[in-house]
Amino acid sequence: MADAHWAVSTIALDRLPSGRQLRTYQHTIDAGEGPHLVIVATQHGIELAGAVVIRRIIDELAPAALSGTLTLVPVMNPLAFDHRSYMTPGDYDVLNPNLNRSWPGDAEGTLVERMCAAYWGLLETADVVVDLHTGTPAMAPHARVAADPAALRLAETTGWPAITVTDTGTAGAQTLRDAASTAGITAITLELGDSRTLAPAMIRAGTDAVGAVIGACVTEGAAAPEASPTQHWVDAGDAVRASTAGLFEPAMGCQVGERVAAGTSLGSIFDPMRLEPLEELTAPVSGLLYSRSMGGAIVAGERVASVAVPAGTA
Ligand SMILES: [Zn+2]
Repeated sequence: MADAHWAVSTIALDRLPSGRQLRTYQHTIDAGEGPHLVIVATQHGIELAGAVVIRRIIDELAPAALSGTLTLVPVMNPLAFDHRSYMTPGDYDVLNPNLNRSWPGDAEGTLVERMCAAYWGLLETADVVVDLHTGTPAMAPHARVAADPAALRLAETTGWPAITVTDTGTAGAQTLRDAASTAGITAITLELGDSRTLAPAMIRAGTDAVGAVIGACVTEGAAAPEASPTQHWVDAGDAVRASTAGLFEPAMGCQVGERVAAGTSLGSIFDPMRLEPLEELTAPVSGLLYSRSMGGAIVAGERVASVAVPAGTA
């Protein structure tokens, strides 16, 4: 049994125009020999639940059971957090406002690229990275992984649907998960629910999910998690998008987190002034409806819903 050493330290991210240093805090629990697990939250400033989950994790942790090192960063993007915005305010970095599309960063690049580069020194030392995000209430809690069997096994420990994301987006616009995975680090994203708010049930569920990952990674005598094949899904990137602008009204027949059959109505778009129906949106494939707009004014091309297919069928 290791004697755990706790420490709080700062990470210098970049220098702001006023001369102030932009920095954040990391919490480290060093419990001797073993893997290094890094858990980060709040890359997006309105995704608040991750910071509270980290606080709960620290409160509930039993250091004597740990074997390895646990590093926690509750607020990765203090600029977006302070501005209460999803992305870094454009006035600071118009080229790369989305921290989670800027990895692994560039120490001589834009402000956000420099923030990524400042974190990368820590992330590179990790065996496992868990990136906590928070979807809207229109997204079911789930784990996202790149095509990496080790990450998928880790995602299974959460008990949440595990979605392998095979569409990694635009070249050069990497998520932290993809950049870490490319660097050989086992990485998962956990999408908690209810951004902008701190729903107690969501905080509890997120804390349990992260606790399970800690149990599997840096707990003495941790057993390899068992496979749960029914939880495996694949998102190949074919989101349901509106082909016309209008007012989207979700269909009542299905909810996020449920399985839907191909052709199931997800909702309809109508012209709000002429009151003409414009488009019926349906599930393109049978699978897990894991996100869907809660309804509202939308423009053509906007993502309305995402359906992941059972693994092995993609
Ligand atoms: Zn996010």
